[in-house]
Amino acid sequence: MSETVFLNGEFIAREKAYISPEDRGFYFADGVYEVIRCFKGSLFSYEEHIQRLKRSLSETRIKFRDIKSLDSVCKKIISKNNLEGKYADIYIQITRGVHRRMHRFPVEEISPTVYIYAYERLPSVNEMKRGVKVITRNDIRWLRCDIKSVSLLPNTLKFQEAHDENARECIFIRDGVITEASHSNVLGIKTGVVFTHPDSNLILSGITKKVVFRICNDLGIYVKESPIREEEISEFDELFITGTGNDIMPVVQLNDIVINDGVPGTITRQIQREYFRITYKKLGGEKKLWF
Ligand code: PMP
Repeated sequence: MSETVFLNGEFIAREKAYISPEDRGFYFADGVYEVIRCFKGSLFSYEEHIQRLKRSLSETRIKFRDIKSLDSVCKKIISKNNLEGKYADIYIQITRGVHRRMHRFPVEEISPTVYIYAYERLPSVNEMKRGVKVITRNDIRWLRCDIKSVSLLPNTLKFQEAHDENARECIFIRDGVITEASHSNVLGIKTGVVFTHPDSNLILSGITKKVVFRICNDLGIYVKESPIREEEISEFDELFITGTGNDIMPVVQLNDIVINDGVPGTITRQIQREYFRITYKKLGGEKKLWF
């Protein structure tokens, strides 16, 4: 059966989904996006994703008035693609719309381009059990990383370098500290305390990271939103990345540094277990999928 996508108010077959080459998303990457995890038909942290999307829209001054309709579109895109019983991701992209190329925003009101689709994606169970390798690179991105913009060229260039080195992620270093990674947040554990870069213009305020904060609070694990300095990485007992696409992913090697003798740390494991309890399991995930 052909895949159904949502484009500008209509559910259509993917092969029939076309946009204009004059879309400002194509010319200028003038758009924002969200990716929402869907566990067997249940949207995870939907409200938080929508709040972040609203913020990205308002910071970029893209006028999209129909945000309330997204809830029903997301549910329909899941059901129309027979993903209700599956682990899926929903991708939402909104650009400023179509206009002949000019830098300033069009004076007349143009309709934003809205594109939504969903696809099955199983959790990366083996990597989550064994841990992954990451590399570090200079953070060459702009100074508004808090906006979830589709302008992701620095992220894709650096992620490709990680991929070329058989690494799972590329962690960014700016002014000697870890900011985040190409599509995840970075957290480290030293003497039982979780450290991570505070929310600011230099990172995306990750929703998975926020879930981890709540888990840590419940488990009595202290979180310090203070950046990890590059030269102190080797002093860290545990390191992990978080994100919609990575869940809670232990890092066991960073460049040439082996972390925790190359195995996921105890506290990371504890956080992972709790995360899975409240997400995959509570929402109907099979226990056998992991551990
Ligand atoms: N930072 C960046 C740059 C990202 O692209 C992502 C993925 N959205 C994250 C962090 C993690 O955010 P979340 O947990 O909301 O997926």
